[in-house]
Amino acid sequence: AAPAPYRGRFAPSPTGDLHPGSLLAAFGSWLLARHHRGAWLVRIEDLDPPREVPGAAERQLRALAAFGLESDEPVRRQSERGELYRAALDQLLARGLAFACRCSRSDLAAAGGIHRRCLAAAREPGRAAPQAAVRLRVADGATVGFDDAVLGPQRQDVAAEVGDFVLRRADGYWAYQLAVVVDDADQGITDVVRGADLLDSTARQILLQRALRLPTPRYAHLPLLLDAQGRKLSKSDAAQPLDPSDPLPALRAAWHALGQDPEPLAAVATVTQLLDQARVSFSPAQIPKCAETLAAVHNTPA
Ligand code: GLU
Repeated sequence: AAPAPYRGRFAPSPTGDLHPGSLLAAFGSWLLARHHRGAWLVRIEDLDPPREVPGAAERQLRALAAFGLESDEPVRRQSERGELYRAALDQLLARGLAFACRCSRSDLAAAGGIHRRCLAAAREPGRAAPQAAVRLRVADGATVGFDDAVLGPQRQDVAAEVGDFVLRRADGYWAYQLAVVVDDADQGITDVVRGADLLDSTARQILLQRALRLPTPRYAHLPLLLDAQGRKLSKSDAAQPLDPSDPLPALRAAWHALGQDPEPLAAVATVTQLLDQARVSFSPAQIPKCAETLAAVHNTPA
């Protein structure tokens, strides 16, 4: 059978403005989608209102448009998709693969942060319990391997390194792991391309896909930008804000961080020309095979 046509995505959380690190993930996922003549979708992961910044999603979408990166299909917002997450959770609960958990932070800390059994359930009844979270039951020894398209073979013992993980938080919000798996499957995503900060979540997501009997996409994790002090650029005070009114330098910097030859983009004068040139010159094999790279944000060769 012919392989499914490539469908990629960029899935920002609206917790701030687009920064050089998120532009790298957006541009990298766009380049890989175009390289494979595939579709590229944008999904707003607005699941965590306490951490969100009002207006950030709109500013991110406007900035992406200024960089010439626009979703091929209507932008999906996770805040509108609770019914789908609910159906997935109900299925896992009904099949005994997920369970309500009232463990407190100190219960978890006592277990080294790795949930293997509910300590709260063992406490005397009648004690005021916090609202329950729902966790996926991770079997002892549940180990997941996958072949990252950039970083190569990966392996994680999810039981030992992560434990039973949260699908719905005790405060009632959906967990990222559940929503991302449900939406990637529902949108027919064949290729997840994102920053290496999420490499550690991938085994959890594959385990969840198996529990929900969903297909597993291919994964590619792009290097994270670090500042001169070696801090994650997105987290550092030195994070240079992107200037959407002057998009070429930031796109060239992201291109450079993706290990690509600057020469073909040197003479372009518009975003459209840059993207046209980038899609023909892009070489996936040049993407650095490391989880981190030093940012050369505004001083790459023009
Ligand atoms: N929303 C997540 C973030 O901004 C990314 C999710 C993903 O690409 O899987 O960190």
